[in-house]
Amino acid sequence: MAIVTLRELLPQAQAKGCAVGSFNAADHSMAEAILQASAELSSPVILSVAEVHFRYLDVPAFLRYLRDRAESLRIPVVIHLDHGTRLETIQQGLDLGFSSVMIDGSALPYSENAALTKRVVQLAHKYGASVEAELGHVEGGEGNLTDGTEVDPANFTDPSQAAQFVAETNVDALAVSIGTVHGPYRGEPKLELGLLAEIRAQTAVPLVLHGGSGLSAQDFRNAIAGGITKVNFFTENSLAGVGAVRSLLGQGRPVGYPDLIAAAKAQMKAVVAQQIEVFGTEKLKG
Ligand SMILES: [Zn+2]
Repeated sequence: MAIVTLRELLPQAQAKGCAVGSFNAADHSMAEAILQASAELSSPVILSVAEVHFRYLDVPAFLRYLRDRAESLRIPVVIHLDHGTRLETIQQGLDLGFSSVMIDGSALPYSENAALTKRVVQLAHKYGASVEAELGHVEGGEGNLTDGTEVDPANFTDPSQAAQFVAETNVDALAVSIGTVHGPYRGEPKLELGLLAEIRAQTAVPLVLHGGSGLSAQDFRNAIAGGITKVNFFTENSLAGVGAVRSLLGQGRPVGYPDLIAAAKAQMKAVVAQQIEVFGTEKLKG
């Protein structure tokens, strides 16, 4: 079926009161786990490739493979560039066939973030691609797997800036900082649902939650009820793959490399399927 954009997918999720998972792939086995789980549940999916993972990939070859696989499936697939920080990466991504990009200017002051986002929107829309930006800052970068990351309320999204940012930039989706972090948490995660409601009251743009790993099913349901329509999910999936490999190696019997890949993929596929159910994405079944 078609490769689509956030512009087509997220308003449908908004109307149905569900969210679409944005799952990161850093290699073919991760991509297959995500695509196969989604296809088996007939649910649309956002397959993301993060700029920080480009170093693991031959990106042009990977994009050709992703586009080919997406077109062979009977579900809508967004091929999304996650956390692009540089205009050059965005330009490269659009040329390679990403149908959607995120420009992350959240580390910049407001006016620079808005100016950069506006430039990316003008560029991406010429390609027919959608754009996600981030206002406020979700901490943790690539995720601190050793100690976890602490939430800092100073980085929360300012609701009074949200409407202005969307109007200034014409962005298609907005990532907000409401108490999540990238990677594991230090301490218990606590979503600021009141803040989410304030942001929602300021703008109708589809809202995005980053740092989904570590939240409970109820946290997700609350966030989705509060207006979140895209949930980024990576760390838990990555750790599930590692866990499957570790457990297989721990059995002490000889295993081949393909067995490790297959075990990791099966475990990640199960995690993705579980999250699709939590996000209610099956409501978007064609
Ligand atoms: Zn993120």
